[in-house]
Amino acid sequence: MPADVTMDKIVSLCKRRGFIFPSSEIYGGLGSCWDYGPMGVELKRNVKNAWWRTIVQERDDVVGIDTSIMMHPAVWKASGHVDSFTDPLVECKSCHLRWRADEIENQKCPQCGGDLTEPRMFNLMFRTFMGPLEETASTVYLRPETAQGIFVNFENVVTTSRKKLPLGIAQIGKSFRNEITPGNFIFRTREFEHMELEYFVKPGTDDGWLDYWVKQRLDWYMSLGITKENLRLRQHGKDELAHYAKDCYDVEYLFPMGWSELEGIANRSDYDLTQHAKHSGKDLSYYDGQDGERYVPYVIEPSAGVDRSVLAFLVDSYHEEVVEGGNRVVLRLHPSLAPMKVAVLPLSRNERLSPLARDVYRRLCSSFMADYDDSQSIGRRYRRQDEIGTPFCVTVDFESLQDNQVTIRERDSLAQIRLPLEELDEALRAKLSGEAFDATTLWATREK
Ligand code: ATP
Repeated sequence: MPADVTMDKIVSLCKRRGFIFPSSEIYGGLGSCWDYGPMGVELKRNVKNAWWRTIVQERDDVVGIDTSIMMHPAVWKASGHVDSFTDPLVECKSCHLRWRADEIENQKCPQCGGDLTEPRMFNLMFRTFMGPLEETASTVYLRPETAQGIFVNFENVVTTSRKKLPLGIAQIGKSFRNEITPGNFIFRTREFEHMELEYFVKPGTDDGWLDYWVKQRLDWYMSLGITKENLRLRQHGKDELAHYAKDCYDVEYLFPMGWSELEGIANRSDYDLTQHAKHSGKDLSYYDGQDGERYVPYVIEPSAGVDRSVLAFLVDSYHEEVVEGGNRVVLRLHPSLAPMKVAVLPLSRNERLSPLARDVYRRLCSSFMADYDDSQSIGRRYRRQDEIGTPFCVTVDFESLQDNQVTIRERDSLAQIRLPLEELDEALRAKLSGEAFDATTLWATREK
């Protein structure tokens, strides 16, 4: 992230180019809720796909699951969330704004300097009622994490997946937390998406697996283009550990507001399975046929936020530069994350160019997420594609009608080359999947 990337610039780009809008904007917005627009939905989906691919698809020791958001209320009693998922809340006696006590520096209201109340514990779970009558219906919670849906299905997955420990169960889905101080755009919201892996291991091997997953997760962010210097690890102090954790590391990212948590990787010990066994009366121990032992597995949990990752990828890829005397904003997103992989741009909106350009678009869009744009000047259209991070623009010009070749412009180097149409699909595929071919040697050999 270059030093001058501010949150305002990111928020403004997201609005301008259709990544992220304030929720219910025509009604003035709803605090801390955001909607993903046409570009944002693609970016977010690509982040989730990249995680699923690495965590589930490319491993034979992890399977996926998709559990319901509302669960039996006893789950949250057993997990400790009813009693312990709280933040200390203080209220300003003058302006009545509420703050997280642990975020207050001098015991005065950050808004008006007024005196604060004594802290009281505030439960972060959203409550609602299941059933038609509020009085008789049971209270249910919107899940604050996806993990519990995994723990209560541990037995189901072990018996049906025919897999042995170590075994991971992965889930991506919405979580809800009634945060006292949401903010910093999509960094902390009350509704967000989690990408969580619960990796069940034999007790005694847990410390080694924690180290393993910490490394895996750091590597994942870097493999998708996050700058190494903008990532760091922070081990939790003993006094800071969650009630279930034996050890925990935060992967932190240098966001515009400073170093902040991007992902937590915790050793949850056998806490959750033991608690659910106790509260449900079901035996959730595992028989290890190889070692001839029965035990309650320990769990290593890499837990990442989809939205927070999206923010980190946006911030890290945001660049401003001067090109040919003009300013350009470019998102240097990893190709696998870019919302659009290629944009097809006829040189101008012209009845002779449109049929070929449309045809090129139709051919590409079955293989790649592709954009077609023929309005405004070509310069403006390039600028738009740079701002949404499209790795390649394919330009169809009048020469193309004669020689059946098109120009490809690469986002980062701005190199332009010409290529026969029949080679386009393959060339794009190779470059997008990481094959480094240098425009100056391979492409420049082609006649313009
Ligand atoms: P924080 O300390 O920032 O509130 P946490 O330690 O409570 O986060 P975890 O419970 O470890 O968070 O959740 C794992 C990940 O889920 C976080 O690292 C973050 O990426 C994401 N996350 C948690 N709470 C939120 C939120 N309110 N909004 C967006 N993402 C969140």
